[in-house]
Amino acid sequence: MKQADLDRYHDRLTALSHRLKGDVSTLEEGAYRQTGGEASGSLSNMPLHMADLGSDTFEQQVTLSLLENEETQLLEITDALERIRQGKFGRCQVCGTEIAPERLDAVPYTRYCAACARKEQEGARADRLGSL
Ligand SMILES: [Zn+2]
Repeated sequence: MKQADLDRYHDRLTALSHRLKGDVSTLEEGAYRQTGGEASGSLSNMPLHMADLGSDTFEQQVTLSLLENEETQLLEITDALERIRQGKFGRCQVCGTEIAPERLDAVPYTRYCAACARKEQEGARADRLGSL
């Protein structure tokens, strides 16, 4: 990979990580607010429906899982920047093939070529189904 391309990915990854750090702190505030006194206060003013309880918990879980995804993304970005420093960036970590430029343009912090990413995703989906 050319140095100019590496510089370009480095800039994109740095910009992404700054944006995500901003997003993560906003989401954290939201998640804490939902667990605070305000939510339980408003619940006591209305009849206690299981459905209401359920949707509150569900929304909170969605927020928390978004947070988890963004934190995971941040970790991936930090790793990708490290790979740029080590000269390993742009190669699949499973099979060592060069990752297609279109793929790196779409997801600059990807670790895998398209074929290995697909296998990885199928494995992850099987894990999730197994835990249900
Ligand atoms: Zn691969």
